[in-house]
Amino acid sequence: MRPTGKLHLGNFMGALANWVKLQEQYECYFFIADLHALTTDYADTSQVATNTLEVALDFLGAGLNPENCTIFVQSQVKQHYELPLLLGMITPLGWLERVPSYKEMIENLAQKDLTTYGFLGYPVLMASDILLYQPQFVPVGQDQQAHVELTREIARRFNQFYKLGEQEVLPEPKVLLTPSPKLPGTDGRKMSKSYGNTIQMTDPEPVVRQKLKTMVTDPARIRRTDKGDPDKCPVGDLHKVFSTPATLAKVYDGCRSAGIGCIECKGWAADALVQVLNPIQERRAGFTEPQVLEILHEGSSRARARAQQTMDEVHAAMKMTLTGDTGR
Ligand code: AMP
Repeated sequence: MRPTGKLHLGNFMGALANWVKLQEQYECYFFIADLHALTTDYADTSQVATNTLEVALDFLGAGLNPENCTIFVQSQVKQHYELPLLLGMITPLGWLERVPSYKEMIENLAQKDLTTYGFLGYPVLMASDILLYQPQFVPVGQDQQAHVELTREIARRFNQFYKLGEQEVLPEPKVLLTPSPKLPGTDGRKMSKSYGNTIQMTDPEPVVRQKLKTMVTDPARIRRTDKGDPDKCPVGDLHKVFSTPATLAKVYDGCRSAGIGCIECKGWAADALVQVLNPIQERRAGFTEPQVLEILHEGSSRARARAQQTMDEVHAAMKMTLTGDTGR
């Protein structure tokens, strides 16, 4: 997760909520991708450190438990600078230029100059982020599958060039497709910080209720007496993700018969959101800054040790050791 600000409900439902479950079943590494923040926001780094702490708090509030998983900061694990250089040597330019989000982001973020080496190379950084931990799986939503596919291609190319006995140094990771409902923001577009339409995980109840009040609804339902369709309404989408089946049934009946108005329906959606957010915010408030820093230091140290094992194998396979010793 990039430290570009506090996390919102889209980040929670699309990623974090799944991670909280995965930490019980797998050995997991989760990190705050501050180097990735530089790929687009290199001109102003003044907020990166603050945002890193905020994201760490959001992780902990959501229920990531440092006893069950490793939480770390990318820039504190120097192997994340090292492997991209080596993988960059073998990655054809065409592979990077073809990444779907590359052209899309250059067009969408026209106010920023993204014609940099670092931005073109971000998928190599991402591949390194993954491969350093020699994982079996990468838990991502559908929108990230292309990146994992490229990671697999880079790993394959590495393994063709460099071998360590019979062993593949960088096994190709598989996608662990996690459910990632696309959560709409208050304007009906995808919830995203860059659209200014988010409900943050830290928003207090009155703010959540106020934001819900301004949320767009089924455009065909203009008057209170018009019948609506929750399937064409962003508030309906929130109900589908957060409300109980009983509330959802009331929403469908009430909206389609014009038995309820949008204000009432939004109130129920706000109730459901507040129920989800309350325990997260309580847990978040239980951590002090020194505690969070300690968790990040400890996690980064664990990640460094694991990543170094991979780098030792990478160096040995590439015969990039001073003695020419293969390490075996
Ligand atoms: P971003 O910072 O936008 O790259 O998002 C980080 C993670 O949150 C990614 O895994 C996204 O898939 C997920 N995410 C972001 N916005 C939403 C949204 N509106 N609905 C669902 N998932 C989202």
